[in-house]
Amino acid sequence: MVPHSISMKTSRLLIFLVRLHIMLCYYRESISTGNQLCAAGYEYYGSEPVYSGFSGLLMRVELFIGVVYYQRLRHMVSDKSQVRATGPIHQLTHQPIKGRKRHGGIRLGEMERDALLAHGSAFLLYDRLMVCSDSHSVYVCANPVCGSILTPCHYVLPSSFKFLESYICYECRGRRCLTFAMPYVYRYLTNELAGMNIKLKLLHTN
Ligand SMILES: [Zn+2]
Repeated sequence: MVPHSISMKTSRLLIFLVRLHIMLCYYRESISTGNQLCAAGYEYYGSEPVYSGFSGLLMRVELFIGVVYYQRLRHMVSDKSQVRATGPIHQLTHQPIKGRKRHGGIRLGEMERDALLAHGSAFLLYDRLMVCSDSHSVYVCANPVCGSILTPCHYVLPSSFKFLESYICYECRGRRCLTFAMPYVYRYLTNELAGMNIKLKLLHTN
């Protein structure tokens, strides 16, 4: 016997398998989509005569028609919409809190900031990041050596005519304090740094 030769039994099995394959192909052809369409009274390739919606005339082209399944997107605009003018703020930073459920603010993050910077929209950035966020008025010691924003304190001086109100710096005893507008988190940062023995000095030109 020659090695690797096909025996009689094996060749019969092969012939049987080939016949089976051909029969299956015929069967598949009979249940193909085209045949099913024909059985239902449609054209084999799924193209049907279509009338124009504008003129009502029959369009003399082959147009494929079939069933298209759609799936509904679960994300609804009404569930996502968020708007706020003013609302709750964070106790520590005085910035708007996050979260649609809690009526929080809409975040203007680093990427949005970069986009606005690229457009040169300085006023819009000022409006978004300060005026509409945590704008805060602060007294700053006018003494150029001191320049502290933590030590100016409200001071009421009783007078024979009226109460004189002013702010004095408790660190350098300076009696001249200026008002500045700045984000509240700047004050918070100054406090945090003061806790680490680091002093932030605010110097002004005038
Ligand atoms: Zn001072």
